[in-house]
Amino acid sequence: AKGEGRNRFHYFTPSMQRYAKHRMRLIQDLRHAIIHQEFELYYQPIICLQHDTCLKAEALIRWRHPKRGLVSPIEFIAVAEETGLIIEIGNWVFQQAARQSALWRDRFGVEVQISINKSPVQFRDEGDSFESWAALLKSLKLTNNNICVEITEGLLLDNSQTISSTLATYRESGIQVSLDDFGTGYSSLAYLKKFEIDYLKIDQSFTRNLDSNGNDFTLCEAIIVMAHKLGMQVIAEGVETEYQRQLLADAGCDFGQGYLFSKPVPAEEFEQAFIIKAKE
Ligand code: C2E
Ligand code: CA
Ligand code: CA
Ligand code: CA
Repeated sequence: AKGEGRNRFHYFTPSMQRYAKHRMRLIQDLRHAIIHQEFELYYQPIICLQHDTCLKAEALIRWRHPKRGLVSPIEFIAVAEETGLIIEIGNWVFQQAARQSALWRDRFGVEVQISINKSPVQFRDEGDSFESWAALLKSLKLTNNNICVEITEGLLLDNSQTISSTLATYRESGIQVSLDDFGTGYSSLAYLKKFEIDYLKIDQSFTRNLDSNGNDFTLCEAIIVMAHKLGMQVIAEGVETEYQRQLLADAGCDFGQGYLFSKPVPAEEFEQAFIIKAKE
């Protein structure tokens, strides 16, 4: 009745109006950004803790907004997912990463495996035709683990039959798979043997407070032992200090990623610091 209607409007507060306006603006800007190619990939090295070498990098998207400058993915990925714009953005990320890996190979003769983040929404898309991805990889001659796809635990709760056959297709095309943010989601350890996963990425919330006799260290050690027994390698995220690096290396962790080694940087900077330097 009348009171109800008034109530409903009552809840549409000025701050909600501002939020709705901000969101609409963001969606418009994102559409514009896709057309005008305002995105860039930054690369963060993934370091082999046993040999101190860099053969992998994670590609992280940045948005060079004409007015706002560099915008973090935290600000726009969720909205891109809700609106489906992530499909086009995700395809661009894949193509860009594949071309970059081929370029580094051709220019410097080194194979850098590039990891890309793939949203669960991209897997649910009917038009997620893997064929166009596979065709690009083939034409660039990238069929030997040059690309890795990072997925999150939530995805494995989806229709597991579809997901597991998609992951099998990846394997056939020479794409590896990482389980991102491990330990923060709804993980059931049963998923780990059901899906073919190459790397577990221990979430930064565990590495942050590492201490040789703390609970987080015990958890990291246990994850590493378990992953190795299941035939997976482990990447620790958010490694910021030498102490954390040492503890993880001693615990047998395979790779580390974090500000200790480098923050994510533009391709040319990555090239200088981790490809050209390594060859000298
Ligand atoms: P993520 O996949 O977990 O990526 C790691 C995030 O941790 C990155 O933030 C990285 O800059 C940050 N990081 C790396 N080392 C350290 C460290 O030592 N300390 C701390 N405090 N942080 C560190 P970024 O680049 O802001 O990305 C945030 C999230 O946005 C990513 O989290 C990922 O979920 C999403 N994202 C980024 N690029 C893409 C993309 O191309 N597609 C999709 N779907 N999502 C993306
Ligand atoms: Ca990631
Ligand atoms: Ca992560
Ligand atoms: Ca994350």
